[in-house]
Amino acid sequence: MGDVLMPAITTQDELRLTSHPLQRAGAYAIAVLARAGHPEAVTGDQFQQVVDLMISDLVAASTVVKGSSGWYLKGVSYTLWPNCALHYKSKCTPEGITAWRTAPPVEKWPDAPCSLCGRPACAWYGNVDVPLGASVEHRNTTAPDHHGTPLCFPCVSSFHALPYAFTAGGGLLQGVHSWDEKFMARATRSAVSDNRRNMTVRGDLKRGGGAFTVEFAALRALRWWDRRITAGVQSIQFSNSTRDMKFQVENMDQTLAEWLRSTASDSVRRTGFRYLAQSQASAKVPGLRMLARRAFNHPEQIPSRATGRLRDQITETGRIPAAVPHLAPLVRTYLTEVLHVLEKDVGHVTTVARRIADVVTADDDKRLKKFVVATRRPNDLKSWLRSEIANWARTRPADVANAPFISVPQWRTLFDSGNSSWSARELLFVAVFEELCARGATVQATDEITTDDDFKTLDTNDQEES
Ligand SMILES: [Zn+2]
Repeated sequence: MGDVLMPAITTQDELRLTSHPLQRAGAYAIAVLARAGHPEAVTGDQFQQVVDLMISDLVAASTVVKGSSGWYLKGVSYTLWPNCALHYKSKCTPEGITAWRTAPPVEKWPDAPCSLCGRPACAWYGNVDVPLGASVEHRNTTAPDHHGTPLCFPCVSSFHALPYAFTAGGGLLQGVHSWDEKFMARATRSAVSDNRRNMTVRGDLKRGGGAFTVEFAALRALRWWDRRITAGVQSIQFSNSTRDMKFQVENMDQTLAEWLRSTASDSVRRTGFRYLAQSQASAKVPGLRMLARRAFNHPEQIPSRATGRLRDQITETGRIPAAVPHLAPLVRTYLTEVLHVLEKDVGHVTTVARRIADVVTADDDKRLKKFVVATRRPNDLKSWLRSEIANWARTRPADVANAPFISVPQWRTLFDSGNSSWSARELLFVAVFEELCARGATVQATDEITTDDDFKTLDTNDQEES
């Protein structure tokens, strides 16, 4: 600190990406507003123009009456910048807002590095500017040891850009973050165009965009992303309100993100994906949104919801639903690519599935149903297999006289390998139906795909809209 060799810097207008997810999200938003491809490509002039734009958006919002259109940004200010200039009559003027958003003159800079990027800080910043960065009791204090956080102007301005990157709803700000820089730039472009629309149109802060908005936005961005994703995706929700601070991160790992992407880019997977989404619906939330939610919170539930729905349909009708030829192979890819079922287990399961398909012929409703019902519980499946083992010993053809119905290693894969046995049983279920379909089983003709409105949104490229 105070290094005499440091070149004299009097303006700060170069954005840096740091390790702080919220700073990064804001920096990407500034890049979008500057029409630059990357935060570090934003020129000094462009940076200043974006700072001015953010000030003029605040000035415009400052006089809006609560609830009327254009109120949105002022509403956000209570969640994001408690006790900022907008909240005091004396400071809620163009001059007051500009003063809040202007770096102090260089002679007033503290002798401290920016806590995020290490360049000289231009001031100490507290909770008004840095979300969750300073504890409440240190706010507005002038005590020498409790200044808040030293930041440079580009870093603090990144936080100021959060309303463009994150969307308000239900008392929180929520947005998508990823360490894949190119994907992050792409996802932020969508968010910025949505949020700028919110700023001019929305008059309130009630949850916009339906249930699990941020997870759905991430799913949508992934499905339009046309290159391999190199990192996982996070959904971040937070509130910086002094009364109700919150910070919640949900993670989707890279393999799942890549798999979701493949459901749009691979034409075979596309059809299966519609059935998969349908199978995820709950009584109150449409399928695509539940799918997006589970991708972040309970990825293991995604295949079991799909097979559960097939089980219900088959139990009800005794027939193979139209979804099966599309959904079963898709669930298999999920189990192998996302849940990492081992190659050798896939081999074991496939062999057993063929054997099962020998005895569960699709034109015998009763046998089919019996097998399907047995797959609901491991113990029921064991009993079902034991009775088939006994039948097989009596009736097997002479040419396979030495082949067991199921071998010991195959049995172990299905029942004695902890969590991977669970995945193996899910795989067994879909593999039996893949095998039956491959053998020409009759599949119900009716296609019961519902037209979920979210699919229209999902399939509309938001980058082309604006
Ligand atoms: Zn900095």
